[in-house]
Amino acid sequence: MQKGKIDVSSENIFPIIKKFLYSDHEIFLRELISNAVDATQKLKTLASVGEFKGELGDLTIRVSVDKKKKTITVSDSGVGMTAEEVDKYINQIAFSGAEDFLAKYKDKTEAIIGHFGLGFYSSFMVSHKVDIISQSHRDGTKAIKWSCDGSPEFTLEDAERERRGTDIVLHISEDNEEFLEESKIDELLTKYCRFLPIPIAFSTIKEWKDGKEVDTGKDKIVNDTNPLWTRKPTDLKDEDYAKFYKDLYPAAQDPLFNIHLNVDYPFNLTGVLYFPRIKSNFDIQKNKIQLYSNQVFVTDSVEGIVPEFLTLLHGVIDSPDIPLNVSRSYLQSDSNVKKISSHITKKVADRLNEIFKNDREQFEEKWEDIKLFINFGMITDDKFYERADKFALFKNVDGKYFTFDEYEKLIKENQTDKNKTLVYLYTSDKDEQYSYIDQAKNRGYDVLEMNGQFDPHVINSLESKFKDSRFVRVDSDVIDNLIVKEDKKEVDLSFEAQTELRSVFEGATYGSAQYWVQFDDMGENAAPVVITRNEFVRRMKDMSAMSGASGLYGDMPETVNLVVNVSHPLVKSVMEQKDKSLGDKVGELNARLEPLDTKLAELQKSSEGKKEEDIPQAEKDEIEDLQKEIEQINSSKADVLKSFGKDNKLTKQLIDLALLANNMLKGEELSKFVKRSVDLINKE
Ligand code: ADP
Ligand code: MG
Repeated sequence: MQKGKIDVSSENIFPIIKKFLYSDHEIFLRELISNAVDATQKLKTLASVGEFKGELGDLTIRVSVDKKKKTITVSDSGVGMTAEEVDKYINQIAFSGAEDFLAKYKDKTEAIIGHFGLGFYSSFMVSHKVDIISQSHRDGTKAIKWSCDGSPEFTLEDAERERRGTDIVLHISEDNEEFLEESKIDELLTKYCRFLPIPIAFSTIKEWKDGKEVDTGKDKIVNDTNPLWTRKPTDLKDEDYAKFYKDLYPAAQDPLFNIHLNVDYPFNLTGVLYFPRIKSNFDIQKNKIQLYSNQVFVTDSVEGIVPEFLTLLHGVIDSPDIPLNVSRSYLQSDSNVKKISSHITKKVADRLNEIFKNDREQFEEKWEDIKLFINFGMITDDKFYERADKFALFKNVDGKYFTFDEYEKLIKENQTDKNKTLVYLYTSDKDEQYSYIDQAKNRGYDVLEMNGQFDPHVINSLESKFKDSRFVRVDSDVIDNLIVKEDKKEVDLSFEAQTELRSVFEGATYGSAQYWVQFDDMGENAAPVVITRNEFVRRMKDMSAMSGASGLYGDMPETVNLVVNVSHPLVKSVMEQKDKSLGDKVGELNARLEPLDTKLAELQKSSEGKKEEDIPQAEKDEIEDLQKEIEQINSSKADVLKSFGKDNKLTKQLIDLALLANNMLKGEELSKFVKRSVDLINKE
């Protein structure tokens, strides 16, 4: 027997391996089995080029657990190792790499493991002793047994092995005995080895016979050696893709489409991606994509590895260029991984474009289920946008679909305003905003339906991408102002009259919303009062509500505009009623105001053009006093007008009608409105 010391200067390497190098102890099994797979594939390669002339025979890799001896054994019939090879590949190579690594990354030992071929040594995370029993495939070589108890000392001796290949025997340490449970091993094999290319046997197939469970003695093969993504797309049918999806995600709904990735230049990449149905945030299941490297499972949390919107897809990506067992931060910065992910983005866009071109009807049918994905991609990934703007769709209120180009052509003529800005009208709720949509349609305008959770973001992003365009919600202004075609005539009502009428309407409003009273001349046939929501303010509010932040806009009460149509006969009636019942009171206040206003104007005129210090103090005081007095009278005037408005049935009725048209009249106010209406009709 030969004794030796593993060539490593730090005596403490094992504790470090155990503690830091792998955060997940369980990956030891993946490492050992991938080594077994590698060894088996090497042998197959040698056989195929004629360098190995013997019988390949059964190449199944066997995993077995001996609960009594507390061992786990992984056996393969691969190339095997001679004593020299063990010395070279196990004793030296692994550790020389590790030493450099430790010197370099003392503080962040987690960073780059795996790159240095520490795969085999991960077995010490769960074992107090590891044996290698190996027989090389080379003629005339002897079997050897290597043993190491976790210190840098090892023994190497002659051994017996029936056939070429390698057994790795792990003597499981006390605090890792969970790995001796069959169910645990089953779980790990399913997770990491499910699609490995060499058959892996664990335990035996059991059958029920005459009410008893009998061991058939036949190997239970745990993996599919020929998974779907490794096969030729031309050999596969839709059912095969559907079945594979069900195997991967038994609980998920059927997917919409799939993409079979098959690239061998400039890097190697295979895989199958599926588009799930995503109708709302609620359905989003991120991190369903599984990443493989040569059929070895790497990770199923691809966040940060592929662009965020792609994490909405499901399926499998396999590339030998994806490094095994490295940390996430390493994967994220790996240039191969970056290339792969931008390539996938391109493929996904190409595939969508292909479906769109070949079968637009099907594409439109599925649009509602994929639009969240496509919109998300377009907003967050410019490269994707550049491709997707050819097949992304708009849907209008009549349920018709248009590409961006088609839609621009449709509205260009009629919806360009006097500043040459193209105005896209949209609704976020067809029912609530019905009356506005109706009016827009009467003008020959087209209205988009943008009621998705994501649409406010989509609108913002499209506005920044479309030239000379803006999006305006149909209820953001009265119809004439939505798309201003020519300068409008001024409202024919004096400033004073507007101020008075404003107070009357303000007095008649109620509730938590904040109303801005405005005046517009919409003609006798339009509604007397219309409620609109300023596009900018509303968007700010929507956005901050969505982000969950309660910033300036989030806390703001709902702000709506109350647009009063000055040429409507009923509005004129309000003015008449006001004059009739308040004529004297307001007239009196106006009479008091008049001389004050004149005096103030005089004083201001005399101090005009003077420097601040040249105006006598007495004069300044007088101006200030006058202003105060005017303010007081104005405010009592406003009070009088407001309290008139508050009790004026007609004013209230006009406001309520506007609210009603907006679906904003509810509860007590609605029943008051009904009563008031009956009263008014009775009086007729
Ligand atoms: P890596 O697999 O990245 O090379 P490992 O530490 O997992 O690093 O393995 C080190 C080396 O030991 C392998 O490259 C291989 O030469 C040898 N080896 C490990 N396991 C086996 C095995 N089951 N059969 C033959 N050679 C093996
Ligand atoms: Mg390895």
